[in-house]
Amino acid sequence: MRRLSVFAMLALVVAVPCAAQSTPHEKLAREIYKELIEINTVDTVGSVTKAVEALAARFKAAGFPDADVHVLIPPGAPTKGNLVVRYHGRGGPGGPKPILLLAHLDVVAALRADWPRDPFILNEENGFFLGRGTADDKSMASIFATNMIWMKQEGFVPDRDIIMALTADEEGGPQNGAHWLATEHKDLIDAEYAINEGGDGSLVNAKPVANGIQAAEKVSVNFVLTAVNSGGHSSMPRPDNAIYELAKALLNIGGFEFPVVLNPITTAYLTQSAKVQPNAEFAAAERTIVANNKDAKANAVLARDPFVHSILRTTCVATKLSGGHALNALPQTATANVNCRVEPSSTYEYVKSTLERVIGDTGVKVTMLGRQLSGVVGAPPSAVPADFLGAVTMVTKKMWGDIPVVPSMSTGATDGKYMREVGIPTFGVSGLMYEGEERNMHGRDEKIRVKSYYDGLAFLDQVVRALAVKPKA
Ligand SMILES: [Zn+2]
Repeated sequence: MRRLSVFAMLALVVAVPCAAQSTPHEKLAREIYKELIEINTVDTVGSVTKAVEALAARFKAAGFPDADVHVLIPPGAPTKGNLVVRYHGRGGPGGPKPILLLAHLDVVAALRADWPRDPFILNEENGFFLGRGTADDKSMASIFATNMIWMKQEGFVPDRDIIMALTADEEGGPQNGAHWLATEHKDLIDAEYAINEGGDGSLVNAKPVANGIQAAEKVSVNFVLTAVNSGGHSSMPRPDNAIYELAKALLNIGGFEFPVVLNPITTAYLTQSAKVQPNAEFAAAERTIVANNKDAKANAVLARDPFVHSILRTTCVATKLSGGHALNALPQTATANVNCRVEPSSTYEYVKSTLERVIGDTGVKVTMLGRQLSGVVGAPPSAVPADFLGAVTMVTKKMWGDIPVVPSMSTGATDGKYMREVGIPTFGVSGLMYEGEERNMHGRDEKIRVKSYYDGLAFLDQVVRALAVKPKA
């Protein structure tokens, strides 16, 4: 409830610009956005295929030939459709490689009872669009679809092909569309690079202060900690006890911090962030840690911000716990799940052996959950090519003035990793701007500013056009 009151206050104090008379381009975007929000695409109860078919019909009506509008449904998964649309440039064979626009159509579950309004209706209130997927990721999906149709209506001819892939099961679920397309239909989506979610811009007092490019992400790995014991009657406790041993192991993990590991993306992030960071002590700590990643004082200052703390290192945290089998018996088994977000240059073996070392001689066993993986966890961060950075910087300056473009590494995971794994460098960039706690993707009352949405529409339109007509030699 505290959270709600903060938002309520925010709505009162923030000067919300009146929605300007929308252009035909914006009207089309809103129509497609509304259609997508109002088709339930939750993994378990919704259908991504329904959204894919609605969009495919729009593309065909807009004059895209059937051969360029692919509805791809994985075998045995009728509700997990994916849409791939190709917009032809004048390039032809041997010309510059295409650009891929990637977004996911599925959304996190939302219960009507948890929301003050229907999460599957596009609501517009106090300058915000509200509803499940308004931010993650139906904003980008509707923007990409609108801009492709709009370019067609205007007769825009790019120098290279523009491909759009809208996919299923990014938020979980067994049929990740991006992974499936990358492995089974790579010919349809192969590109020089991809634009994806994961990068946005920041507002302070409703003013844009930075625009982001996500070029790397951490990898999620789960470890199960298990303590076993012969058990016995609880009337005669012994010093050895599965629950106590597990508890000791977990407290050790809670008190442990992985060392700082910087890569070119996080270094660039800290350097740029230090320039716009309003807190002088924090900005100084960002500069210090770049110069010396072992500086304990700077590390302690940066640890106050959970996001910055997490991009500096691998993190592992207990997320689930169970143990014992009867109220009157000594526990025979106690288990916990530890979720690690691993910085991409680490290996699985390093993370596991570090946990084992930290746990010490508690007798607790560590096993990796799911597939047994080995080697380096992540695809290497995508180096941002000069033409890409140039286009994003040029459009950022044009729209918002002299604000920095900040490369970043996500603490969470997106479908970008599947593209990077098959050699398609992927960058999260949207031009969608958020202020502080407005970033509540996956949460109750998911939202985005109406102005941010239309700015993102214009931003991505200009960035894609710039990249499509000025390919690298
Ligand atoms: Zn997403």
